[in-house]
Amino acid sequence: MLFIADLARELTVTCELDFMAVSSYGSSTSSSGVVRIVKDLDAPIADKHVLVVEDIVDSGLTLGYLLKNLAARGPASLEICTLLAKPGRAGRDLPVRYVGFELPDVFVVGYGLDHAQKYRNLPHIAVLEA
Ligand code: 5GP
Repeated sequence: MLFIADLARELTVTCELDFMAVSSYGSSTSSSGVVRIVKDLDAPIADKHVLVVEDIVDSGLTLGYLLKNLAARGPASLEICTLLAKPGRAGRDLPVRYVGFELPDVFVVGYGLDHAQKYRNLPHIAVLEA
């Protein structure tokens, strides 16, 4: 939410914004790859150029699932932009076109990212210490 709000204000092309909410089953600090769509897009994406904006890609499992789901809807193109990326995604063949910052294997919070729904409101990104 915070990232798309800042990114959108820098875009100069005419575009639509739509939102999906997905939740991955698994422990609180790692993803299982089994994804539940909590909120789907409001509009169809067939024949549209789609840029998926993510806050963070860790194992890439969530995004891998999401991409298959979105690709089946027939977009004209499908690209990914992520603010943060961890080394785990390296083994996956995800077409991440834009990466803001590469992270080491740490769990981060703030700037929209949570741990058990807390810390999303931090104006910066911080490492959560165990
Ligand atoms: P993946 O499926 O790529 O392992 O995990 C993707 C999702 O897990 C992200 O969209 C995010 O919701 C959550 N996630 C992964 N790493 C972190 C992290 O370091 N901090 C927070 N707050 N969430 C993370």
